[in-house]
Amino acid sequence: MPIVLKSPAEIERMAEAGALLTEVMDEIAAAVRPGVSTLELDRVAREGILERQAKPAFLGLYGFPATICASRNEVVVHGIPSAEPLRSGDVISIDIGLFYKGYAADMARTFAVGEVSAEAQRLISVTEESFWKGFEAARPGARLGDVSAAVQRHAEEAGFWVVREFVGHGIGREMHEDPQVPNFGRPGVGPKLRAGMTLAIEPMITLFAAPVVVLDDGWTASSGRGNLAAHYENTVAITESGPRLLTGRR
Ligand code: MG
Repeated sequence: MPIVLKSPAEIERMAEAGALLTEVMDEIAAAVRPGVSTLELDRVAREGILERQAKPAFLGLYGFPATICASRNEVVVHGIPSAEPLRSGDVISIDIGLFYKGYAADMARTFAVGEVSAEAQRLISVTEESFWKGFEAARPGARLGDVSAAVQRHAEEAGFWVVREFVGHGIGREMHEDPQVPNFGRPGVGPKLRAGMTLAIEPMITLFAAPVVVLDDGWTASSGRGNLAAHYENTVAITESGPRLLTGRR
């Protein structure tokens, strides 16, 4: 499919959707603590979205059964919320999307639950930093590979592994549009970036190299025992003056 360019007015709509999603993520962040279950976080998310006259985007998407993906420890993405309480030392990645006035927003964060290891904290920080490297590269006239390579370089220089099996994506009226946005690649290759493109840039980083395997539930994507994973995602618009953040904040 061709890449759908958005008008400045459409980007403003997407920024409204993104601002609401950021508020919901703040509410989730405030609820994360040892003892809370990811089902409870899912309830916070669903109520937060509905209160804002928005619509959960993941619930029912390809058959997904919840409002958030809640991916614990070695789970990279697509974890299904459960009644099991989080424990101090866990890392929990929350991915959430909504639709508002016909436009999608998509965002993920990894939270430390209670006290986590220094290595886990560093993984979370490097994953966020990798996003910002990709964000800065998302300028009109650059290539998509510049974004991918910037993410990859930062994660690998820190000694971590970039997940290959899942990638970011275009976003707009649909949650998933072209192009795919890998977190690995070569500078100077791929589609030329143009003002009006809107992308979900979402580094998924693990401690070490290992294949990511989908478990028997058909969703949970695991990098394997002991291989902690972190995820950091924002919806980003490419404008004439450079990248614009549509979810989250600096
Ligand atoms: Mg996404």
